[in-house]
Order: sequence, then C-alpha cells, then structure tokens
Amino acid sequence: MSGDTTASPVLIAGAGPVGMSAALALHARGIDATILEAESADRDRSGSRAIYVHGSTLRTLERVHPGLGTDLVDEGLVWPTRRTLFRGAEVFSRTYDSPGGSGDIPHFTSVPQVVTEDYMHDALAEAGIDIHWDAEVDIVESSPDGVRVETADGREWRGEFLIGADGGGSTVRKEIGANFEGDQSENAFLIADIEEIEDEQRELERVFHYDAPAADGRNVLLVPFTGGWRLDIQCIEGDDPEELSSEERMREFIRDIMGERYEDNLQWVSSYYFLQVMADTFIDDDRRVLLAGEAAHLLAPFGARGMNSGIADADEAASAIAAAIDAKTDAVVRDEVELYAARREKAAEFNLDAAGQALEYLQGEDPVTVLQKEAAASLADQFETAGEWLDDAPYGPHGTPPIVSTGNY
Ligand SMILES: Cc1cc2nc3c(=O)[nH]c(=O)nc-3n(C[C@H](O)[C@H](O)[C@H](O)COP(=O)(O)OP(=O)(O)OC[C@H]3O[C@@H](n4cnc5c(N)ncnc54)[C@H](O)[C@@H]3O)c2cc1C
Repeated sequence: MSGDTTASPVLIAGAGPVGMSAALALHARGIDATILEAESADRDRSGSRAIYVHGSTLRTLERVHPGLGTDLVDEGLVWPTRRTLFRGAEVFSRTYDSPGGSGDIPHFTSVPQVVTEDYMHDALAEAGIDIHWDAEVDIVESSPDGVRVETADGREWRGEFLIGADGGGSTVRKEIGANFEGDQSENAFLIADIEEIEDEQRELERVFHYDAPAADGRNVLLVPFTGGWRLDIQCIEGDDPEELSSEERMREFIRDIMGERYEDNLQWVSSYYFLQVMADTFIDDDRRVLLAGEAAHLLAPFGARGMNSGIADADEAASAIAAAIDAKTDAVVRDEVELYAARREKAAEFNLDAAGQALEYLQGEDPVTVLQKEAAASLADQFETAGEWLDDAPYGPHGTPPIVSTGNY
C-alpha cells in the first residue's frame, strides 16, 4: 500500500454536486478538503437529473463561492407560467410579471444538473481545490481522533473528518454500518430531456396534464430548462417501462405531446422507480464521518428536494466540521457532529414526507383521491382555487424543514 497521506483535515468521498458543494463550503470557512472521486476525469455525466434549483440553494452557493449562485442564475431560466390541464381541458393557468421576484437571486432557476456541475468544477478550480479522480473509497476506519480511508487502488488517506457524499450506493454509508430504510414508488416514471429548437417561439410554461389524451391517459409533466424541456410521463398499470422508454416509443410520445418538430430532439431518456429512503444514522459511532446528499437520503423528485437538500447538508456539514476543528474538548467535537445529524436527519424526514405526499397523490388510485381530482377539475371553471389545488398538488407541500440553520431544505 502506498502512503498517499494528505495534509487536508477533511476528506470528501464523491465529486457530485453535494461533494463539490461541501468542498466549497469548507473552503469558505478556511478549511482545506481532499475530494476522492471513483470515476475518471473524462466521465460522461450527460444524463440530466436535477433541473429545479431553489432560491435558497442559489443563495447558499453564492455565500460559499461568490459568483457561483449568480452564474447559475444567468445560465438558468425562470419560467413565468404555470398551467394545468385535465383530460385535454385547461383547468388552471397563471402568468407572473416578475416570476423570479425582485432580488439578484430569483425564487428558483431551471438549469440541467450537468451545467450546475460544470460551474461547480470552475468554482473548485478558482478556489484551488483538486479532485482526485480514479480514487474509489473502499475502506473507512474511524477512531475518536480521525478517519483512515483506503481507496480501491490501495492508496491510504487520513483526515480528521470524512464527508460521505458518494451517492445512493454509498460505500461510506455501508462502511459506517448505516442502513437505508424506506419504500419504493409503485409506478414507474419515464423521464426524458428534449432539446429546444432554435428560434422556436414555444411558451415558457411548466405544464402538468392529468390523464393526457396525447399520452394515452397517462399523467404528463413538461418543464422548460435552458436549452430544452424535461418530459416526465407517469406509467400506468400494465405498462412495461423498458418498452415505453425505447427511443422509438419516446419519439411517438414526443410527437404527440410536443409536436412533430420535436420528435428528433430526444437527448436522453430513462425510466425510474423512485426510492424514498434515508439512512438510519447520518454519522458514525466516533463522530468523525458525516453522510450528506444521496448517501444519506433518496427522495422522489417531485418538489425538487434531492440536490437542493443535499447542498443544504453539505453546507451544514462544513459548518459543523469548522466548529469541531476549533473545539478544545472532545465532547464539543462530538456535540457539533451530533447536532449536524440531529438537524439533517430531521430535515430528511421532513423532505421524505413532503416528497412522499406528492408521490402518493400522483399514484393515488383510491376512490377518494380520484373523486377529489375529478371534483376539483369540474369546479375549476367557477372557482380558481380548485384549479390551483390541481396545479399545486403534484409537487407536494411548500413547507421547509423546521430545523434549518443555513439553507432552506
Ligand atoms: C430524474 C431526476 C430528476 C431530478 N430532479 C431534481 C431536481 O429538479 N432538483 C433536485 O434538487 N434534485 C433532483 N434530483 C436529484 C439529484 O439529481 C440528486 O439528489 C443529486 O445528484 C445527488 O447528488 P450527490 O452528490 O449526493 O450524489 P451523486 O450525484 O450521485 O454523486 C455521487 C458521486 O460520488 C461518486 N462515488 C460513488 N461511489 C464512490 C466511492 N466509493 N468513492 C468515491 N466516489 C464515489 C460518484 O461517481 C459521483 O460522482 C433528480 C433526480 C433524478 C433521478
């Protein structure tokens, strides 16, 4: 084993959006970090995932690396119109004059995750933080004084703390003996990105269509982002998600939902059953390892809480580690790390519940939910609140977790 011991006090497993945010948040607090990433520098991250970035996340990123939040704002788009249809008929539409609000940072922006990550890479370079590529964390050993990590290539790394931001299949989570607990969605969802057509005058609107005739009665969500559209189709009983997500079948969906001009513009498609799970603990017994992002929790994307809450985890992990590094007693070190776990486990429970409510509503085939939706649709012409309820419900409740110190999720 070669001794590649680092001088950084903090090791980070994973260079996804959460690991990179953690490194930036530590740097902003004067703490060096070493990022260990399993994949190679030339990897392809093109399968777009997060597009909806909340204002609180943009503010966090701006705070830890001035210019990063505003770069994402400049790159992203804020759609002014929200619209809902029910079986072919419009039940709600509202256009805002100033959809992002009045400050430098809007309420949200819509930008592909791959672009967000590109800006994070630039920010890391500006801050002088290197990513160690091809460094897959394999073994984690903690003690009351620190952490020893071995990567799959046999190298050894030591730090005072380790942030496990190595995604849903986290090795760090397994190494500290934490387990995922939770459920999986009943329905599968087809998610595709469709490239925008140059000079197309398509309305920038987020559209939810219940039982859309163009998708043979499936629910359809269409969301614009810079350079394209996110198309989300909810499978129904008897569907074969593999077959439906074939290129040929997706071209048909795109033609029927968006029009013939778009049918050659499929950039990426995948089918998902969404997991709704969180680790039974976010920290190790020695209070030296902190899980963050999808290593700690996996959420259905309705309400867009996945990456957003992962970046809040990253910022809070950095804050806890900064306080722990300055601590003069071991008990205070333990306290700071335990407070991190208390806050972020609570936040994850809240976010899981919110995403779960959205999922339950979308999947809800029980007679009460079906009747509620139909009643609201039939009243929407006379009562705007009925249409607004239909427009709002697929994304779950608006609230944010009760215990938050820096971010909102
Ligand atoms: C279809 C879809 C739509 C979504 N939409 C949204 C949205 O609009 N808004 C939102 O907030 N979220 C959304 N999400 C969720 C969001 O994509 C994730 O929450 C986010 O990518 C999690 O980031 P992460 O850094 O925790 O994990 P990842 O992005 O998975 O990154 C983990 C990193 O760790 C590396 N790694 C893995 N194992 C190891 C190891 N052993 N050692 C070292 N490195 C390792 C991986 O290579 C990777 O680089 C969506 C997700 C999906 C699937």
